[in-house]
Amino acid sequence: MYEMRAEFDPDATGGLENTSSSLALLWHVISKEDNQMALCGQRLAQTVHESLVAGGHAATERCCSPCLAVVRASMQAAEVQVGAAQPVRS
Ligand SMILES: [Zn+2]
Repeated sequence: MYEMRAEFDPDATGGLENTSSSLALLWHVISKEDNQMALCGQRLAQTVHESLVAGGHAATERCCSPCLAVVRASMQAAEVQVGAAQPVRS
């Protein structure tokens, strides 16, 4: 239901400049409204995801906790508002 996409982990790799040895990936959850945007608000570069994941040379991987927090919040909101949040169609 939620699509995920890998980015460089800025805390672990030092950003795009350091891609040499201990490469770390950070998995974001993609917004349903904009597939170039993560739920935490970060804009994603698709080329990074494709080259890194296809290459399969990530040393470490972790999930973006702000993204996961948004997913959890939206799922809890959906449970509370079962059937109540449907848009009214005329
Ligand atoms: Zn994120």
